[in-house]
Amino acid sequence: MQRFEQSMYELIEETSTVLPGDVRRAIRRAKAMEDEGTRSAFALSTIAENIEMADCNISPICQDTGMPTFFVHCPVGANQIEMRKAILKAIERATKDGKLRPNSVDSLTGKNSGNNLGPGTPVIHFEQWERDDIEVRLILKGGGCENKNIQYSLPTQLEGLGKADRDLDGVRKCILHAVYQAQGQGCSAGFIGVGIGGDRTTGYELAKQQLLRPVDDVNPNEELRRLEEYILEAANRLGIGTMGFGGEATLLGCKIGVMNRLPASFFVSVAYNCWAFRRQGVVLDAGTGEIRSWVYPRGRETEEELKREEAAQPAALAREAAAQVGAGKAREVVLTAPVTEEQVRSLRVGDVVIINGPIFTGRDALHKYFMDHDSPVDLNGAVLYHCGPVMLKDSNGEWHVKAAGPTTSIREEPYQGEIMKKFGIRVVIGKGGMGPKTLQALKEHGGVYLNAIGGAAQYYAKTIKKVHGVYFLEEFGVPEAMWHLEAEGFAAIVTMDSHGNSLHKDVELDSREKLEQFKDPVFA
Ligand code: SF4
Repeated sequence: MQRFEQSMYELIEETSTVLPGDVRRAIRRAKAMEDEGTRSAFALSTIAENIEMADCNISPICQDTGMPTFFVHCPVGANQIEMRKAILKAIERATKDGKLRPNSVDSLTGKNSGNNLGPGTPVIHFEQWERDDIEVRLILKGGGCENKNIQYSLPTQLEGLGKADRDLDGVRKCILHAVYQAQGQGCSAGFIGVGIGGDRTTGYELAKQQLLRPVDDVNPNEELRRLEEYILEAANRLGIGTMGFGGEATLLGCKIGVMNRLPASFFVSVAYNCWAFRRQGVVLDAGTGEIRSWVYPRGRETEEELKREEAAQPAALAREAAAQVGAGKAREVVLTAPVTEEQVRSLRVGDVVIINGPIFTGRDALHKYFMDHDSPVDLNGAVLYHCGPVMLKDSNGEWHVKAAGPTTSIREEPYQGEIMKKFGIRVVIGKGGMGPKTLQALKEHGGVYLNAIGGAAQYYAKTIKKVHGVYFLEEFGVPEAMWHLEAEGFAAIVTMDSHGNSLHKDVELDSREKLEQFKDPVFA
């Protein structure tokens, strides 16, 4: 088993940096669904470019490398204690090498362990089987989409859909509602795993396990197969689209599993996964720990297949090409901090903004801190980026950005408006949009919210030309620290402006209306 630790390292690296072929094909299908020149088409093009960059650079597809969750199947007699130790070592090394972001935080003190190890991190499930090899699957699911997981207890009343009973039709309503409530905040277009039954814990486990199924497989249970197909079709009529920008592609996959339940309980648990659907697995020689094969056809190995698929869809390709051109039709505005109120007030929802010059990152810890402390730097006219980057220090002590996509902004809703006014911040960049409090503050103060493409961590990392410095690194850890960066050509879309307009509000209202068309029973 001397090779086991190295094999685990390779599994982590592959999972974090290369999307498997089935996921890539699903994203490609989504691109073909969107009309040219739309925001969703633009977002999907950025996503596609980001996937290629991560693959080429062997760097994280998204900066949020999530909670590493392992599913290990091993023969009777395999030493699980040694395997666990090797997995922990591989995790630590992958974190040090910038393949994983340090993501394990003490829940009481807020301190980041720095190496992705700690109580409950990583998650490792062991199970024995009667085969003589070992299979290890790994899923890296980030916080943005993990926060959109949802569990229903039937019967229940659902917004837009009415009563969901304890039957398959009630399940259908819950799943559609789950997609609706996620909007773009879990970095749609997404994949969902659903667990019907179990208790509150096993229901969620079953839901997450469904995400391990290949995107293109067919459910052997006929009723569930029909439901999966129905959900995929219906969810894509909600109009939420990629990143919640509105559009045709909202859901890329739906996998449903079922288990028994207590007579008194009927849970429907939904695990929502973003487009950056990072899961991979290896089959290992139980004697040596060497990798024999990969569970999901690797992205690199399927390039030929993808090219053939492309060639077979000339209409889709033509639309994609037109979309790239069309995306350039939006008004483009270049901003460099310090940004003035006048510049901000000239912006409208739909404008594409190119940021050059200094930007500061800030997430949950910084926002909370700023409520009753001063800033160490002048933020008048500043650009604040909701981002927890992956950073690496070289041997000369200089920091480099390895991955830097936006994080979910809505978490900062209680603080954002106040902080913008207090420090004079004019531009906030994030993903998923913000709520009415921030919208009101943008109007009063003269501010703008830009939506960057969630998960496009390599794409945005490339726009960061220099790291000027860092504040609160010791106190908050790498992802939560305030990084002072120099950007060049950082593109994002205005989705909330200083005139009271919010694309997020509009898409939510529109999808709420569309949800009502699915009120009547289908699987009665
Ligand atoms: S793509 Fe979005 S939801 Fe997924 S891990 Fe990255 S930031 Fe989180």
